[in-house]
Amino acid sequence: MRCLLKPLPTASLSARSLQVVSRSISKRTFVRYLPAPQSIVSIPQVKPLRRPLQSQLLPTYNCLRPASSLSPTVLSVARRSTVSSNSRPYTTGHISGPGAPRPPRDNKLKAWPFVLIFFTGAIAFAAVLENRKDKPRPMPPTDTSSSSKELPKLRDDGPIFSPEAVKVIFVLGGPGVGKGTQCANLVKDYHFVHLSAGDLLREEQSRSGTEYGELIKTYIKEGKIVPMEVTIVLLENAMKRSIAAGKHKFLIDGFPRQMDQALKFEDVVVPSQFTLFFDCDEETMTKRITERGKTSGRSDDNPESMLKRFRTFKETSMPVVNYFDGLKKVVKIDGAKSVDAVYADVKAHVADRLK
Ligand code: UDP
Ligand code: MG
Repeated sequence: MRCLLKPLPTASLSARSLQVVSRSISKRTFVRYLPAPQSIVSIPQVKPLRRPLQSQLLPTYNCLRPASSLSPTVLSVARRSTVSSNSRPYTTGHISGPGAPRPPRDNKLKAWPFVLIFFTGAIAFAAVLENRKDKPRPMPPTDTSSSSKELPKLRDDGPIFSPEAVKVIFVLGGPGVGKGTQCANLVKDYHFVHLSAGDLLREEQSRSGTEYGELIKTYIKEGKIVPMEVTIVLLENAMKRSIAAGKHKFLIDGFPRQMDQALKFEDVVVPSQFTLFFDCDEETMTKRITERGKTSGRSDDNPESMLKRFRTFKETSMPVVNYFDGLKKVVKIDGAKSVDAVYADVKAHVADRLK
């Protein structure tokens, strides 16, 4: 009201005209004066205080001000608004034409979309809360450092076997490189005992009554290295069984995959003869694992686990290969060739050391 009265530039309003204006305001209608097109129209007020654009325009609508005193932005918005409000069809038969006040619109009609949006939002929010309430949070993967599981104790009184009596060859290479396939060839021709660390772990995982089943399962799925205590005990027990049966030559496939495993195994079980390392690019290994995954039933023969296993191999297992290489104990074979070609290379390189 104060705003409406103050800026009236020239005309002094009579009491009667003040009454008319104040009545028009009490009907929540505003009067505005705009130069192009020159008209005085009434437009409905739409919750002015809540909307920044309208609060910016309110002084224009409320006050009878000459166009020259308005900022260009305000003017252009006001002009657009005038044009659109003039083009709106009215069906009430009220006075029309230039300068004629437009009938006020029913404000109740404007409120319902907001009410609808509010209730829809409230219902959706309640549904989200309800959905979250009873769902268990996913368990993070087991971490060695935080694992409360008691791991098997390893002896520290030196190797249990002598390297003269028990021959161990480590077989390393990326996931799916073909270690298992080449080991099968060597078993056939040279009568090795083939111990795959991965197979022993999977066997233990599905053995009834094992206390490490869940732990192994989580590590394998995540492509991480199972704590060495578990793997070394499994290998040592398997070796003891074979030695008791008179077999003393072992291919240990997919082990050691981490430096601590390498050092500990040689400390408490037996020092290795050498490491057969199959080198291969990830693209070839991906194709092989994808093919194997069709029938293997392995929980880690899928694209997601595969990527994790590649990373673990590069970051954790390659240092083992490099460590033994520094000791001149690595025989490197190109694993990207065909099965037969790779096996021919193996024999050419190490046949004399396999007997
Ligand atoms: N694994 C392990 N320690 C090992 C060997 C294997 O923790 O010394 C786990 C690891 O999670 C690995 C999985 O067993 O990704 C499968 O190993 P495997 O040797 O069967 O894989 P491959 O090389 O045959 O693809
Ligand atoms: Mg394997």
